[in-house]
Amino acid sequence: MSQLPSEPEFEQALAELTTSLGSFLKAHPGYQKALDTVQVPERVIQFRVVWEDDQGQAQVNRGFRVQYNSSLGPYKGGLRLHPSVNLSILKFLGFEQTFKNALTGLNMGGGKGGSDFDPKGKSDAEIRRFCVSFMTQLSKHIGQDIDVPAGDIGVGGREIGYLFGAYRKLRNEFAGILTGKGLHWGGSNIRPEATGYGLIYFVEHMIQKACPEYSLSKPSTLVAISGSGNVSQFTALKVIELGATVVSLSDSKGALIATTDAGFSKDIIESISQLKLKGGFLESFTDFADGGNYTYHPGQRPWKHLTKVHIALPGATQNEVSAAEAEALVKSGVRIVAEGSNMGCTKEAIAVFEASRKKGGAGVWYAPGKASNCGGVAVSGLEMAQNSQRLTWSPEEVDAKLKNIMTDCYHTCLSAGEKWSGEHNAGSDVLPSLLAGANVAGFIKVADAMKAQGDWW
Ligand code: NAP
Repeated sequence: MSQLPSEPEFEQALAELTTSLGSFLKAHPGYQKALDTVQVPERVIQFRVVWEDDQGQAQVNRGFRVQYNSSLGPYKGGLRLHPSVNLSILKFLGFEQTFKNALTGLNMGGGKGGSDFDPKGKSDAEIRRFCVSFMTQLSKHIGQDIDVPAGDIGVGGREIGYLFGAYRKLRNEFAGILTGKGLHWGGSNIRPEATGYGLIYFVEHMIQKACPEYSLSKPSTLVAISGSGNVSQFTALKVIELGATVVSLSDSKGALIATTDAGFSKDIIESISQLKLKGGFLESFTDFADGGNYTYHPGQRPWKHLTKVHIALPGATQNEVSAAEAEALVKSGVRIVAEGSNMGCTKEAIAVFEASRKKGGAGVWYAPGKASNCGGVAVSGLEMAQNSQRLTWSPEEVDAKLKNIMTDCYHTCLSAGEKWSGEHNAGSDVLPSLLAGANVAGFIKVADAMKAQGDWW
């Protein structure tokens, strides 16, 4: 038995990568040493965060930063504030982030951090005091050329502002040490939109290759989304802008399914965005929805409640599609599943999608988050570039760069998938595995940089 503590989420991410590397490692056994090395984070920082609540009482939480890999650039990856946060979750996220960042083609290493602090139900002042206390410790370990955190679950523009302000005051330095900043103080155009928009740019390529009959410009193309936070809101808005129909959203308390052909409108998404800013839940949606246009399913995710769906985009959190839900999606006609969330699908759900793909024809094509959601960190990388230049690029310029990055990432994953997912043969109607492609391509890039820098030999 291993002397290491059980870390289920990290072990799941590692097993996924290891399995995907099977045929590559068989052909290149020397890279096994790289796999042994890359799975150990360069550094794990853990600290105590004591903050004062509105009653003047001391509250204590755990703070973390996992600095996973810096062979391609400064550590880069979000901060998550959620009661479920622990080292296993942050290690899985930092590990995935390392290969995701490699797939953007930008010079960024991988990291992840956060705290088990729950921002839900906290006042603005409590969140501000928590952020100041958290940054008091974190500031000792980050820097624009060392480690540049960003947002994730529970960390949006407000939290980034409090964290950035705390760093500026503690260090007397205005530096690009966080991304996702406000537009007038070092932020980038399109950063809030980037993960959702990038996901859709990636999915457009998948549709074109796998099922062009389901263009996102057609209202008859039905898109199911889970989650209703940053990623899912901008995923939904881009789908609506292009002309397809959004049929579902969800949150940690339940799922909302559209019951009319119109699906979710832009106005409804904007109302949900306001509701989420105030810490609300979709269960109160009936308060402002047109009666009868949606059904709410408490305690449920959307996947089993869709009679017909063509594209499914998990966008809430890890392991939010089970095997049974994957089967239900296949039965409802899904052709494309692409993760906006990190490790959105369980191992068992991925097995269902990959088995469907291998049948060819009208099978399901699955894209892992490290490829399909890399647009967020890509625009964070562009924010770092703008900070270095002390310039702000126009929304059009950033959007065009994001599109190019997603296109390059898609082609990188596709061609590595063609080479390394064994069952794909030229001339067959079986699509290459984007899971294998993303994992092999990301791994080779990181492993080669590590080797060149003497991290393994
Ligand atoms: P967010 O704005 O905080 O939204 C998270 C959404 O997921 C909310 O709807 C939340 O519901 C729901 N959720 C959170 N924990 C859940 C749980 N345990 N069970 C069910 N639902 C849950 O976060 P986000 O930035 O959109 O991130 C969503 C996912 O995308 C995460 O996996 C994140 O790692 C990934 N991601 C984010 C970015 C980015 O740029 N933000 C980039 C790449 C990947 P409630 O509102 O009820 O809490």
